[in-house]
Amino acid sequence: MLHFIPDRASTLSSRSADAMPNRLELAENARLRELVQRYLDRVEEQPQYTPEQEEAFRRRIKELLVEKDAVIVAHYYTEPQIQALAEETGGIVSDSLEMARFGKQHPAQTLVVCGVRFMGETAKILSPEKRVFMPTLEATCSLDIGCPPDEFARFCDQHPERTVVVYANTSVAVKARADWVVTSSIAVDVVEYLDRLGHKILWAPDKHLGAYIQRRTGADMLLWDGACVVHEEFKYRGILELKQLYPDAAVLAHPESPAAVVEIADAVGSTSQLIEAARTLPHKRLIVATDKGIFYKMQQAAPDKELIEAPTAGHGATCRSCAHCPWMAMNHLENLMLSLERETNEVLVDPELGRRALVPLERMLEFRERQLYSGD
Ligand code: SF4
Repeated sequence: MLHFIPDRASTLSSRSADAMPNRLELAENARLRELVQRYLDRVEEQPQYTPEQEEAFRRRIKELLVEKDAVIVAHYYTEPQIQALAEETGGIVSDSLEMARFGKQHPAQTLVVCGVRFMGETAKILSPEKRVFMPTLEATCSLDIGCPPDEFARFCDQHPERTVVVYANTSVAVKARADWVVTSSIAVDVVEYLDRLGHKILWAPDKHLGAYIQRRTGADMLLWDGACVVHEEFKYRGILELKQLYPDAAVLAHPESPAAVVEIADAVGSTSQLIEAARTLPHKRLIVATDKGIFYKMQQAAPDKELIEAPTAGHGATCRSCAHCPWMAMNHLENLMLSLERETNEVLVDPELGRRALVPLERMLEFRERQLYSGD
């Protein structure tokens, strides 16, 4: 298997005995899943627009970006129309780490973050002097919902000897409680670094990503029991069946998927790393087990390759996300235009919490800068 996170250690450590959730945490899990489901039930059908309407939105957004000194910062999982417009207007389409770096470094005084809520909050924490808007503030994330700050704080209090490392897909309050914030493109490197220094890790919220990092680094990790509704639904058996149909295809998987899916993948990594894998792998066919929003940039990076969606709910069509994040899908051209025009959906962060969350976020960005500087 090709890991697009530098491969330095891979075996499970004998110190990992507490890496699996205990009984109490599993009981919690059922309640948190219900909570996530309540949010999913509230997701509305997205409007359909004619090409003429879309063109009118695009024209108006371009005017507003100039008028308001604004730039679009979009995630790979948003709709292709948004990604295309971000590229055309000097913005960025990227993973959450690059979104954070770009928003902080860009001279524009207004950021329009197209993605989910925690991405807008991260942009605001890193650039408190800028105004940050989002097409909708309702776009959330099952990982964020599944990690309520009070419960997480209690979990941390029970394990004061552990270094708290949280995924970027969390609320400001959870970040404020953390020692480190990481994205999937840098998580293995940070945990490996901490492990070398002798730290024991408390990881939240994605248990699949946490287990993957643990397998890669051998670090001593205690995992919160959260999951991504998109990546959790990719099916090992369905992918195997697809592999029989296309034996020449490589499988690309995000580490938020269950271990069985990750184990059969030819390349595992963050969104940026999977796009790079699509470009560099010799295979002409790729089975892609991540949100299908990524196809827009992946096809650009590998124009001669055939991209095939990995199956989610097998033949039963019982998936909740069906390979596209319901919250990412809430971003569209019309609400992007309206948020800029009316200056609504501004992301505001409690200043004190923001200041505390900034510390672990900057730690991650500085770590990344050091990696880039050393060519790692
Ligand atoms: S794809 Fe998963 S991790 Fe990403 S925003 Fe949606 S629910 Fe959260």
